[in-house]
Amino acid sequence: MKKINKIAFIGIGLINSSLARDLNSIRFCKTTSAFSRTKKTRNILRKLNIVDKVEESYENAVKDADIVIIGVPVAAFSKVIEKIALHLKENAIVTDVGSVKKSLITIAEKKLPKGIDFIPGHPIAGTENSGPGAGFQGLFKNGYCILTPSTNIRKQSLDIVIKMWNLVGMKVDIMDPEYHDMVLAITSHIPHIIAYSIVGTISNLEKSIKREVIKYAASGFKDFTRIAASDPIMWRDILLSNKKSILDMLSVFKKDLAKLELAIKREDSKFLYNLFSKTRLIRKRINK
Ligand code: NAP
Repeated sequence: MKKINKIAFIGIGLINSSLARDLNSIRFCKTTSAFSRTKKTRNILRKLNIVDKVEESYENAVKDADIVIIGVPVAAFSKVIEKIALHLKENAIVTDVGSVKKSLITIAEKKLPKGIDFIPGHPIAGTENSGPGAGFQGLFKNGYCILTPSTNIRKQSLDIVIKMWNLVGMKVDIMDPEYHDMVLAITSHIPHIIAYSIVGTISNLEKSIKREVIKYAASGFKDFTRIAASDPIMWRDILLSNKKSILDMLSVFKKDLAKLELAIKREDSKFLYNLFSKTRLIRKRINK
């Protein structure tokens, strides 16, 4: 396998900083750099000491890098690709960790120079926290990373990216990008919409009711609304970048919700019991 001398992290918040920590611990490459646009984050990065060089210019960050890993909110992807395109090393691998895939591929295909292998990636791991201080070693352990590469890239490049994720503890699945966006719409994006929506409903309730709801929120409510504390910019971008799949899945979900509503109205205890028995089995399988 080709020797990796330098990895550049473009945007280094929760995901890329966790990856940097893991790759450091296994000495995956000789040297690392990270670009951050804000002085505040650059200072935090210097204190954390998880990359060799903290850069304030895209050019310096990607110069001579064998692998460039983009970890910014998906709406910033296009600008980032424009900024790095002319400074990439010949034959460099560009990959990313964005939560949607199809729209990013369209941008990369248009804007990256010939000879660059773009390997879109999505590690299915994370927390509701943001920034490099929130990252930690071991975030990716035992998870899945989905890669959605085109068939035009060098196999050697794909092997390197697969190896990188395997070494930090992830199993890798190769998937069609549109299929990825549909699967993630129902497993991640719609759950976030529901959590944001129910917490939004609470915040609209009368002051006194709101106080009681917050006071008595049981562990179930806390569990399933945890993701409503996720980064607003990141989630705004994800929902707008995966509009079609989300709207398709949301319409299926709304039909199911309407059936549930009707069953409650009609006091259809058989329907409710059957549905909850089925979902209980499915949920237990997910826990395994
Ligand atoms: P994060 O902690 O908020 O970090 C995002 C980074 O992007 C920060 O370093 C920020 O830099 C930089 N950034 C933001 N806007 C930018 C812009 N306009 N131009 C250049 N840099 C910009 O985010 P994250 O959780 O690591 O997520 C990164 C990517 O991973 C997202 O695309 C997300 O969809 C995906 N993802 C997230 C999770 C999750 O659970 N969090 C899981 C899987 C995939 P400054 O600090 O300098 O502003």
